[in-house]
Amino acid sequence: ALERYASIRDLKATALCGSTISLHMNAGLMADLPSLKGSGAEGVGLFRTELQFLIRNKMPKRAELSALYARVMDAADGKRVAFRTLDIGSDKVLSYMKPNDEPNPAMGWRAVRVGLDKPGVLRMQLQALIRAANGRPLSVMFPFITLPAEFYAAREEFEKAMARERILGHALPETIEVGAMLETPSLAYAPDCFYHEVDFLSVGGNDLKQFFFAADRENERVRRRYDTLDVSFLSFLDHILSRAKAAGTPISFCGEDAGRPMEALCLAALGFPMLSMRPASVGPVKHLIRHCNLKALRGVIEEARAEGAASVRPAVTKWLTSQGW
Ligand code: PEP
Ligand code: MG
Repeated sequence: ALERYASIRDLKATALCGSTISLHMNAGLMADLPSLKGSGAEGVGLFRTELQFLIRNKMPKRAELSALYARVMDAADGKRVAFRTLDIGSDKVLSYMKPNDEPNPAMGWRAVRVGLDKPGVLRMQLQALIRAANGRPLSVMFPFITLPAEFYAAREEFEKAMARERILGHALPETIEVGAMLETPSLAYAPDCFYHEVDFLSVGGNDLKQFFFAADRENERVRRRYDTLDVSFLSFLDHILSRAKAAGTPISFCGEDAGRPMEALCLAALGFPMLSMRPASVGPVKHLIRHCNLKALRGVIEEARAEGAASVRPAVTKWLTSQGW
């Protein structure tokens, strides 16, 4: 699939209306990194650090993590990598951690909640990232932030780690970005100051959709009832985008939908300036965007909403067909 889109690999995802969408890839293992060149992605919009923890049978050591993150940054060769700190719990369970019997793990003790309650691993990870950067730029984001206070507490851990590294005489990152994943409706309605405080936001659409529709993302039977292009979900995304825009906060969308053709086009038309997806989707999505007038598509979406459609999918499908797709 990567071969087919090789001719547009170094071109931008500029739509017919002139707007350019920044396309990034999701990764989690060293083996994903070669795709950065092959796919034409501008960077890694989501590096799921838990995968490294999940493939082991014991807790990795700080030095190992630091060496690994340094190799990721080396392979990225100056391109941005947004490292997401450990998102365990829910569907991702570590064999070497005490199992946690919870009735609803997706809404349970997971991600940054674990990181803040038992900060040992989070601290080790932050220190490993700072050391790996070794003077290069560093982007870190925290998963499953539901309240601004969680973000501030996690960021404080990062600042403490920085202070420690400074005292130890290690080189500090040239620039730092500390962001949050927006994966629950609560954060969409956080106070304005949060939107100003955070360096960037990344919408985790898989979780956000699960909580918006109260439909378990692992449960096919209920998940399939809800369409990403449902007007209520699009209105919700609109709200998030307008808040980010008002605060001047960079925002991206990194759920699976960013890599699905029609969803990606609609997310771009809605106003997401950056999408992060599985590597194999970057070429196809770029191709689609380059052949689409996103402004006109936005009009089609608006019209369908005004007409009371439940989902904009039929109208978008019809429009794409009329455009000769
Ligand atoms: C998401 O929730 O959309 C996301 C990108 O994170 P994950 O799929 O790892 O939960
Ligand atoms: Mg998530």
